[in-house]
Amino acid sequence: MMLSQKEISDFINWLEEHAKKRCESCQNDSIWHIGDNLMMPNAYQVERELTPYGSLPMFYIVCSHCGHVRLYSALAVQILPNRLVQKLPLSLQELRFPKEIW
Ligand SMILES: [Zn+2]
Repeated sequence: MMLSQKEISDFINWLEEHAKKRCESCQNDSIWHIGDNLMMPNAYQVERELTPYGSLPMFYIVCSHCGHVRLYSALAVQILPNRLVQKLPLSLQELRFPKEIW
């Protein structure tokens, strides 16, 4: 799914407010490339076997110095293209804020 200029702009604004610019991999104050589409890693329920649960929409950015990739949950940052919301199973709303582990 290609992102619109408005969605990319909203994500850049979110990054400027919430993310550090320094790359945790190479320690450079890097220039980041923003993906113009969403990554959709698959989620699975773990029972006796893996059961497909859905796809998690993620924004991604890539460090221009070392190629490190950061993923940001489109549900958690609450910048999810409206045209995608209707296609997501309701159960994915539970993943907006995954369980706290500490
Ligand atoms: Zn880097």
